[in-house]
Amino acid sequence: MNILIAGEGGQGIQTIAETLAYAAFLSGLDSSYLPSFGVEQRGTPSVAYVTISGEKSFGYHFKFADIAVILRERAIPKVSELVNPRTTVIFDSSTIDRSKIPSHFKELLGIPATRLAQEKIQPKVFNVVVLGAMSKLIFDLDKKYLWQALEHYLGKKFLKNELLRDQNTLALDLGYEFIFERHDYSKPIYKTKTSKIVDDSEGKISTVYPTLCKGCKICLLKCPVKAISMSTDIGFFGNPVPKIDNKKCILCHNCSTFCPDTAIMVEKS
Ligand code: SF4
Ligand code: SF4
Repeated sequence: MNILIAGEGGQGIQTIAETLAYAAFLSGLDSSYLPSFGVEQRGTPSVAYVTISGEKSFGYHFKFADIAVILRERAIPKVSELVNPRTTVIFDSSTIDRSKIPSHFKELLGIPATRLAQEKIQPKVFNVVVLGAMSKLIFDLDKKYLWQALEHYLGKKFLKNELLRDQNTLALDLGYEFIFERHDYSKPIYKTKTSKIVDDSEGKISTVYPTLCKGCKICLLKCPVKAISMSTDIGFFGNPVPKIDNKKCILCHNCSTFCPDTAIMVEKS
């Protein structure tokens, strides 16, 4: 089985591909994983090729995918090249418009992964929601192998941050139990990121950089007048990014001072 997973750099595409391949290996199957990045990892399409087989297989850039997973709209052209009438296409229905998906597939399955992760856990683990769902669908892979593989790749991070372990466990379970949308797909509620969102009004220019924002919400917590809320624009983890209400803003600069990623600023116009 040839599996293609494609999305933005920074979304954890390679992590779930590698985890899937290793979990299949742990379960006794043969598997291979091949990453493919753009010029820069962050903010450019990221593609992973996974092959899982009952026999000896070798990693390669296959010609057609049996399963193609599309996690951001910008990855669609790359995926289209490898889709044929035997391909099952899986897409994030909370960020991608169904009409944009190529039509020459066997079956189209939706999972509103970004929305599920945002509403039930935290946006950053949306990739693990997808991992759980596709692993169950592809070969009903026992969750213990998935968790073992995830521990193998993320164990060091889990040791430093127990909350991360809990969030990933929840995400894996959420995906594993998810029943794919087959006809009645969710509507996309998050917009694909632009590199800069500017609001020039009320004598101020507020700027948010979705390509830098990881959605940690520190800026929200530090704003003394509650001028910041989360928007439906998405950042590089598929996370919602903040928006500033210029009318409420008192130009204290707390947001830019405390943001760990220089992803937000306000100045006088
Ligand atoms: S500059 Fe201060 S008041 Fe304005 S949005 Fe940032 S934290 Fe809030
Ligand atoms: S702008 Fe900065 S502080 Fe605010 S959510 Fe994004 S990364 Fe966190």
